[in-house]
Amino acid sequence: MALNTVLLEMIAAQAGASNPAVAEALAQLRAAAPAPAAEAEHDRSAESAALNDALTDLREQVKDLTCDLQFLRDRCDLLAAALGACCLCWGEDVRCRNCRGRGRPGFSQPDEALLKEFVLPAISTWRAQRVKASAPGRAATATA
Ligand SMILES: [Zn+2]
Repeated sequence: MALNTVLLEMIAAQAGASNPAVAEALAQLRAAAPAPAAEAEHDRSAESAALNDALTDLREQVKDLTCDLQFLRDRCDLLAAALGACCLCWGEDVRCRNCRGRGRPGFSQPDEALLKEFVLPAISTWRAQRVKASAPGRAATATA
């Protein structure tokens, strides 16, 4: 039983006994109030709508995460090809059907175009930093 129904019953019991007008008004309010079964149905309907909204949000999140995952897989495959690594396991799975755990970078011939696009710029920057760090007059020295 809903709280407002309980309150209405309590007020009716107290005020209705001493004042017929109040008793009549409360009787009309009770008649207009939804029946408990209807309230329960309304509660289930509201709960169902909230669950549907949550499910819709969840589906959107799964869709977004699936797109992100595909993007990252594609990028990982490109980098593996640039480095000549196994695109399935990068040499970390001895049961890999592609490389049997031997697919670390250099396992196969790197894709030259991808190597130039993804790897050589990083090597150039790394070399430039090493030269700068080891230049005379600088306190810092190259490591590694
Ligand atoms: Zn592999």
